[in-house]
This record gives sequence, C-alpha cells and structure tokens, in this order.
Amino acid sequence: MDKIDPRLREMVKRLGEALETEPSPVKSPDDLFAPPPWPRAQMNVMFRVLAGDMDLPSRCPDRRCRRTGDCRGGIGGDCEACVPLWSAADLARLEAAWLALALAWSCETERHHVLAAMLGYGDRPAGAWLR
Ligand SMILES: [Zn+2]
Repeated sequence: MDKIDPRLREMVKRLGEALETEPSPVKSPDDLFAPPPWPRAQMNVMFRVLAGDMDLPSRCPDRRCRRTGDCRGGIGGDCEACVPLWSAADLARLEAAWLALALAWSCETERHHVLAAMLGYGDRPAGAWLR
C-alpha cells in the first residue's frame, strides 16, 4: 500500500467524496442479482469531480453551488446553470470519462449475464445483450 502513487490516492479519495453525493444503488438483497444499472451515478460523480477541478462551483450562476463549493450538476442533477461554463475541451474530457464508464458497465453487464447463466438465473445467453 505504501507504493501507491499519492496522486492516485488523492484521486480515489476525491472520487469517494463525490460518490457520497449519490444514493447507494443497492436498496435490497434482490438488487444483488439484478443487472448493473446504467452508470448514471458514476457519470454524475465524474461530472462533479471535473467541475470541481475547473473550480466551476465558485463561478456557477446558481448561488447554492457557490455557497457550498460543491457542484450539484450532472444528468438529472440539481443544477444546470454551470453547463455553459464547460469548454469544448472540458466536455471532451467528460465524454472520455463517460465512455470509460460505459465500457466498464458493458463489461460488468456481460460478467453479470455469464454469472447469472452459470447460476441458472436469467433467460439470455452470455453476450445476447449486445445483439
Ligand atoms: Zn451549479
């Protein structure tokens, strides 16, 4: 653990703090057997982390963001006022982050279907969700 890059440690810490702004996706034990939800919450975490990197909360037209210093935007977020503050380059960074999350979701969904099929759950063979 001592060899973890301090920048990586700080990034994971910041992601964890931003993740706390989203409710837990697991509400009941049945949710453990459900396919993974679309990573909307994680996409909002990335939105808010990148917005924080750019110090958008302090410049947001919404007073609540300026007061708390935390971005509340994202997909279905509580604030859309900061969206015009994003540059094309920043939006490209966000898009790349969201694509990475979508790829991870695709892989996790595939793993879920394979595991469900192995356990006799589900009605689709592995990979069928892609077709
Ligand atoms: Zn805002």
